[in-house]
Amino acid sequence: MAVMDFDVVVVGAGNAALCAALAARENHAKVAVLERAPEEQDGGNSRFTAGAFRCVYAGVDDLKKIMPDLSAEEIANTDFGTYTEDQFFDDMFRVTQYRADPDLVEHLVRSSLATMVWMREKGVRFVPIYGRQAFKIAGKFKFWGGLTVESWGGGPGLVDSLKSICRRNGIEIFHQTRALSLVFEDFLVFEDFAVHGVRARRGNDLVEFRAGAVVLACGGFESNTEWRTRYLGQGWELAKVRGTWCNTGDGIRMALDIGASPAGHWSGCHAVQWERNAPEFGDLKVGDQFQKHSYPWGIMVNALGQRFVDEGADFRNYTYAKYGRVVLEQPQQFAWQLFDAKVSHLVRDEYRIKQVTKVKADTLEQLAEKLEGVDAAGFLEMIKRYNAAVDQSVPFNPNIKDGRGTRGLTPPKSNWANPIDTPPFEAYQVTCGVTFSFGGLRTDTRAQVLDTDLKAIPGLFAAGELVGGLFYFNYPGGTGLMSGAVFGRTAGTSAARAVPRTLAAAK
Ligand SMILES: Cc1cc2nc3c(=O)[nH]c(=O)nc-3n(C[C@H](O)[C@H](O)[C@H](O)COP(=O)(O)OP(=O)(O)OC[C@H]3O[C@@H](n4cnc5c(N)ncnc54)[C@H](O)[C@@H]3O)c2cc1C
Repeated sequence: MAVMDFDVVVVGAGNAALCAALAARENHAKVAVLERAPEEQDGGNSRFTAGAFRCVYAGVDDLKKIMPDLSAEEIANTDFGTYTEDQFFDDMFRVTQYRADPDLVEHLVRSSLATMVWMREKGVRFVPIYGRQAFKIAGKFKFWGGLTVESWGGGPGLVDSLKSICRRNGIEIFHQTRALSLVFEDFLVFEDFAVHGVRARRGNDLVEFRAGAVVLACGGFESNTEWRTRYLGQGWELAKVRGTWCNTGDGIRMALDIGASPAGHWSGCHAVQWERNAPEFGDLKVGDQFQKHSYPWGIMVNALGQRFVDEGADFRNYTYAKYGRVVLEQPQQFAWQLFDAKVSHLVRDEYRIKQVTKVKADTLEQLAEKLEGVDAAGFLEMIKRYNAAVDQSVPFNPNIKDGRGTRGLTPPKSNWANPIDTPPFEAYQVTCGVTFSFGGLRTDTRAQVLDTDLKAIPGLFAAGELVGGLFYFNYPGGTGLMSGAVFGRTAGTSAARAVPRTLAAAK
């Protein structure tokens, strides 16, 4: 078996891993990044994202620290508002039903802006999310929902830029190198139990990457059909995977094998409404365009022709991550999203791609015939009841939670309710697309992995999707990349500082 020596080995090459690698390098470590995928598919789920980051900012001056290229015209024409620490805390605790680990949340929230500034200083570029997170009101863009910044070039731009910054800083990236197990026997200079490296398969070879510390940042278990069924529950083997095929829980398994403690919501995951006929795993040519997120403006119906969820319960950012599960629970795991002509201009760009399952009709009766798999009579009866229940005395306003709801209907539609009565009618068929699993490893705010006695395992750190304890039930959009960056940076810094002096001195 070949042996290679480093100070810090980082497993994974997504956003969390590359931030960890950069932070370790900044702290003078010799760093290796191990990536399971070939170069053209690297970057894990991070590459599939739109690059949205949720971070705290007190106003445009903070945003200029992250986006120094903001023009005077953009600033004049935009109301960026603020996103305070209190709002971020509230969002995290509210959507996770007050389960999120308070220490991890505090570290995430309080470090979010500083981490974005750090990434910018390293060379990552950010831009405002005008397209999806701002509405134009009286000639001025107004941002909503606390999600204002995305990486330039989306997920691919983020990964490619982090990767080239890593390489410029002398970090070695090994592609097609799948970590298999942790090395934790004592050897050479080490006297205590500690993690000393990673064994990996590189092509047909086994390689031991020896190191003073290891950062696991190799994603959750969402791409592992068997683990999904085992931990998320029956039926989850039928979900589509939105992102990479590589996140099969390897990092979690390797750590559990040496006594790490599991933490968080192991039966929970982030899952959205996703094109019914999408492939089993994400397709980088389509990216996240299989998602279908305009449901707050319309209604959703299942195979029985019935509505089954409050489409307007909250802004999309706060419901989209849990509605995938709701669709998976419907008969035959599908739903149709319906829009009439009054709201079709509000429907997002992802509905305009050619890989959609779409029908269009001029009457509701024709539409009922075209909705494949749906009980037409049940559907028409439901629409009558729904239309009659909309309280039209409240004005429709997509920019706020307008309170224009249904009255006396179960389930209600709490905001943005409109009768479905204006042709042409459009419908899009969706199923469940799993984004990432919530359960993972127990870590502290230094990103150290804890064992089942709740003690830190020397030399082992973790960041990103495979950390448990942050997300339960739901998740505020843009927090995956932000937490990966915050805890990745922390993990890299802690790992470099944990490298035994004896090892560092020997190099
Ligand atoms: C379609 C889509 C859109 C999304 N949009 C957003 C968004 O806009 N904003 C947001 O905040 N979040 C978004 N998310 C969630 C976000 O992608 C994740 O929270 C985040 O990218 C996780 O980063 P990570 O570095 O932990 O994992 P990943 O980016 O998934 O990286 C894991 C890495 O580990 C590698 N790996 C796995 N196993 C091994 C092994 N055994 N050995 C070596 N390498 C291994 C993988 O190849 C990959 O490089 C989206 C997710 C998807 C799928």
